[in-house]
Amino acid sequence: MSSQNVVFISGATGFIAQHIVKFLIEAGYKTIGSVRSEEKGEHLKSLLKSAGLKSELFNYVVVKDIGAKGAFDEALKAHPDVTVFLHTASPFTFEVHNVENDLLKPAIEGTINALNAIKEYGKNVQRVVVTSSYAAVAGFADLATPGKEANEDSWNPITYEQALQNPFVGYIGSKKIAEKTVWKFVEENKPKWEISIINPVYVFGPQAFEVKDKSKLNTSNEVINSILTAGKNKEEPQQYVAYFIDVRDVAKAHIVAFEKKEAAGQRLLLSEAPFTTAEILDVIEKDFPKLKPELPTLDKSKAPKFEDSESIINNEKTRKILGFKFIDLKKSVDDTIAQLQ
Ligand code: NAP
Repeated sequence: MSSQNVVFISGATGFIAQHIVKFLIEAGYKTIGSVRSEEKGEHLKSLLKSAGLKSELFNYVVVKDIGAKGAFDEALKAHPDVTVFLHTASPFTFEVHNVENDLLKPAIEGTINALNAIKEYGKNVQRVVVTSSYAAVAGFADLATPGKEANEDSWNPITYEQALQNPFVGYIGSKKIAEKTVWKFVEENKPKWEISIINPVYVFGPQAFEVKDKSKLNTSNEVINSILTAGKNKEEPQQYVAYFIDVRDVAKAHIVAFEKKEAAGQRLLLSEAPFTTAEILDVIEKDFPKLKPELPTLDKSKAPKFEDSESIINNEKTRKILGFKFIDLKKSVDDTIAQLQ
């Protein structure tokens, strides 16, 4: 695919999406991002400009709520030249009042709205890429299958009813059911465009542009930031064992997904390696010695055991399709922390 393509990206202000926008503009793609307000759109344009990028390649449309019926219709009517549609927007927070209204409905309805708008008004669309999650691939907590392989064909067994229980499982269910909706749509409508799905594990790494408010980061980077916060508050940080991928690799994968023929029709399972909170703390201690007095002490015996909680990811197929090497934990953590200093 050439840079003659016009790329639409939903949720352009998101942590992952800003990196995608940056890469798209650097590659010379005309890009249209959906944002929730004019103010957010102008801010993103100004960030691109300040970074010395061709901000004139970026335009935005306001889509306040992806879950509202026909949310993307006007956007695609106004931009009939769109050839690639990247759907990244979805609520990713555990701070919600109502799991169904705040997580499940926007994720699922938002995806249906995007696909229906493409069907009706995206006459030139050739490729669609949807940001799903590892949450759609493997079960967690009660639904975990420790020791069992998770690969590009695996599905989390979570149901809509199970997802209603709390915000954590609500988010997980929202991603699984939204992705199922995509495959059902493709099967029923047999569209002329081709689909790729991106399934990342925990996404770490720096923000695409300078961060003003460093007190709270996006949901997944809080795993790293919370170590610093715990240290400052003399608390013990919550200990994780899970898998990570760097945000720059996630962004790159969205672009390779529509540029490469081999990615069409595929789920791309993005994971570099497992991590523990102790490993992240080690990297910070070694690479940022000035922070040492502020870092928390960790009782490693309290860490959850990997073999009791995690599936074994096999993403050989994805790595082969993408054809680039993923960023390791040290660089991901170093770049995240460096930006916060
Ligand atoms: P993020 O920073 O919270 O970005 C989410 C984006 O979606 C924001 O631009 C947000 O807009 C927009 N959005 C959310 N709800 C919306 C609604 N109802 N109407 C309109 N826009 C809405 O999260 P992220 O980490 O970049 O995640 C991006 C995608 O990757 C999501 O689909 C997420 O599920 C998936 N993912 C993330 C991770 C991870 O570890 N970060 C892992 C796997 C999958 P506002 O900011 O203006 O609200």
